[in-house]
Amino acid sequence: TKHVQDRRSDAMDIAELRNASRFEYLQKRTDRKVKEMHDEIIDHEYLFQDVKLTDAEQRDHRRNKEIYELVKDRAKKHDDAGDYYYRMPDAYDAASNVDQEKRFAVATRRYDDPDDAPRDGKKRSNFSEQEAWEEQQIRKSRLHFGSNDGGRAAGDGYGLVFDTAVDFVKSVVQAGDGEMDELAEAIDTKVALHRELQDERKNLPVYQLKDDLLKAIEEYQVLIIVGETGSGKTTQIPQYLHEAGYTAKGKKIACTQPRRVAAMSVAARVAQEMGVKLGHEVGYSIRFEDCTSEKTVIKYMTDGMLLREFLGEPDLASYSVVIVDEAHERTLSTDILFGLVKDIVRFRPDVKLLISSATLNAEKFSDFFDEAPIFKIPGRRYKVDILYTKAPEANYIKAAVGTILQLHLTEPAGDILLFLTGQEEIETVEETLKEAMRGLASKMPELVICPIYANLPTELQAKIFEPAPEGARKVVLATNIAETSLTIDGIKYVIDPGFCKMKSYNPRTGMESLLRAPISKASADQRAGRSGRTGPGKCYRLFTEFNFRNDLDDDTVPEIQRSNLANVVLRLKALGINDLVNFDFMDPPASESLLKALEELFALGALNRRGELTKTGRRMAEFPLDPMLSKAIVASEKYRCSEEVVTIAAMLSAGNAVFYRPKDKQVHADTAKQAFHVGDVGDHVALLNVYNAWKESGYSPQWCRENFVQSRTMKRARDVRDQLEALLERVEIDPCSGAGDLTAIRKAFTAGYFRNAARRQKDGSYRAVKSHQMVFVHPSSGMAQVLPPWVVYHELVETTKEYMRQVTELKPEWLVEIAPHYYQHKD
Ligand code: ADP
Ligand code: MG
Repeated sequence: TKHVQDRRSDAMDIAELRNASRFEYLQKRTDRKVKEMHDEIIDHEYLFQDVKLTDAEQRDHRRNKEIYELVKDRAKKHDDAGDYYYRMPDAYDAASNVDQEKRFAVATRRYDDPDDAPRDGKKRSNFSEQEAWEEQQIRKSRLHFGSNDGGRAAGDGYGLVFDTAVDFVKSVVQAGDGEMDELAEAIDTKVALHRELQDERKNLPVYQLKDDLLKAIEEYQVLIIVGETGSGKTTQIPQYLHEAGYTAKGKKIACTQPRRVAAMSVAARVAQEMGVKLGHEVGYSIRFEDCTSEKTVIKYMTDGMLLREFLGEPDLASYSVVIVDEAHERTLSTDILFGLVKDIVRFRPDVKLLISSATLNAEKFSDFFDEAPIFKIPGRRYKVDILYTKAPEANYIKAAVGTILQLHLTEPAGDILLFLTGQEEIETVEETLKEAMRGLASKMPELVICPIYANLPTELQAKIFEPAPEGARKVVLATNIAETSLTIDGIKYVIDPGFCKMKSYNPRTGMESLLRAPISKASADQRAGRSGRTGPGKCYRLFTEFNFRNDLDDDTVPEIQRSNLANVVLRLKALGINDLVNFDFMDPPASESLLKALEELFALGALNRRGELTKTGRRMAEFPLDPMLSKAIVASEKYRCSEEVVTIAAMLSAGNAVFYRPKDKQVHADTAKQAFHVGDVGDHVALLNVYNAWKESGYSPQWCRENFVQSRTMKRARDVRDQLEALLERVEIDPCSGAGDLTAIRKAFTAGYFRNAARRQKDGSYRAVKSHQMVFVHPSSGMAQVLPPWVVYHELVETTKEYMRQVTELKPEWLVEIAPHYYQHKD
């Protein structure tokens, strides 16, 4: 399955246009063509102002200009008619104009001042790449005609420049008459699509209430908004506010989402609806990825990012409206935000706070926010038939695939949505379905498979919203994200195995793990509701009715009550909130968990005995990472290996899929992977080796292919690394390299992860030193064959057993040396 994913990512760039939605595709194509034509005309005008053109060249140029004017005219007509404003390239960003100018700077400069012309051997500073390239071209042409160079140096030589320049111009596509029709047509289609989008907007339930809603927001500072998923809360309300003037005077609208994918996807949609480029007026901000600019007025962001923004701007002064969306999800960050924004509205009467939720149980929010009024958007939901299995299913993956195929063959048209717990399951189902379809291809109508999960490349995420081709059926394989965050139109059948990945935390052992767990009744009902949005639907639950009634909880426990709170406590402390027991929580966490978090931060040296933030703690809070990882980075100063530790931290944060294993080349892939495990000291050092080798290859994708490394993950790691390095500077840690001292690197990690130490047992299993839990080295680890007597691990994942992922060898004496307060008594 990894293989499939990688092929996909390699083909990505080429297929980018095809993968973009229909609208975007046309938009890009039209923009590009018009831009090409525009460039060409500029080329002519710059380069030929003093040159005599042949008749044919003049004709070409004239025609190009005519076509361009025609297209421009047409766009203007649409514009005057109040249609989508089509920006012509001359109105493009100043930035691209600068490029344009730079591009011809060398050629034109030659006219102004012949002595200024760059000559061989004469170095000029501030050369752009383009200039360098041009100089090279010039040099080439001189070489070519080099024999009588001497006489040409002053005046004649410039003719040569034009020789090469003319070639350059000619290689640009010439637009013919047919092209003009196509272009005009494309612009028309674009306008039509935009109209379609605007009509769609008007069909959303929230549209009917637009004026009432704006009035209510005007009147009340805090408003709870409740509406069925898909009623337009997330995509429309920020636009209404923008239109109503809430973004005037340089203020922004923030809209938080619990999930990265939702933030990106919704921002993309809204940018499209507003006819602007993503990242301009509408943008998004998620960890390690900021797609906003000076222009941004509507900012979608993860709840965690808004939480981080409090650090730099404790009153959120740049926002006029804060929308805490998907509040019913009750993520850890959302719950903390509740307490913080509630405080802000008290001393900032000019700010508006909207809490938006998909469940009807909104009284709780209203109670918390001092009896804020509830604004209900009446939903439309059709009848949904619920079907249960007769007996429990032993293997829900198999059952799900069977149900999809059965449904596809017997039920009338309508798309299918299957809920799974994560990427791995989604890939398994995708493969299995594809295989089944190959076997049955001739007997079955087409089935279009659309996966959606957090790590799916952005460009592929748009695909789930595209309607299936005529006669085909779409099956969306989604994580919990499709439960309420994303609405996919056209879903008529929902298949619900009844599970999701859920964080769980045991404050006694301090262990947090991501487990597959049964969903709540409320979740199951939300999922079922996804099938009844556009017409009557059906929901196939892959469990029994008895299970539903007796085994499922009514509601999902808020994340704050099942999480390790160290991170949150550190952030709150960094915000100056010391009294955590009296913090305004909607549902307070168990005091045991709070205590454990304080203990943990104390052990990491982030807090002193009085529970106050230390210098180490303040530095740690700057990094958008888990406290243990932040600590490893801060500790790298002492061990003089910050370069390496930052690289490893970036690799650990970039996603799990560093390596891949194509089915037909598993042995090669394993050998390649093993080669990074020099000295068998652990996975952390192997990650460092991978990064450094990739860097040495000049960040080459070819190198990635040869070594069975995911180039997408590497690019992301590089990105993350740049950001972490910038933060190093902010906390005043000098970047320095440990020059291959692997012990120093491992000690720095141990300084963060000493709690995750485990000791090998006779049977090859390990026992966690503190919790005494039985754990195993994950089979994908390079240490799985080595099994050193002592290890420190990055995280635990539970599948069939508790597995340690990213494992590194440790010397037991380091524990006492590095964390004496933690390890002195026992061991
Ligand atoms: P709510 O927040 O109330 O659940 P949304 O504003 O997310 O509703 O969705 C409103 C409509 O916009 C839905 O019909 C949905 O299909 C559509 N939509 C939302 N995001 C996208 C997207 N990325 N691509 C296409 N359509 C989208
Ligand atoms: Mg929404």
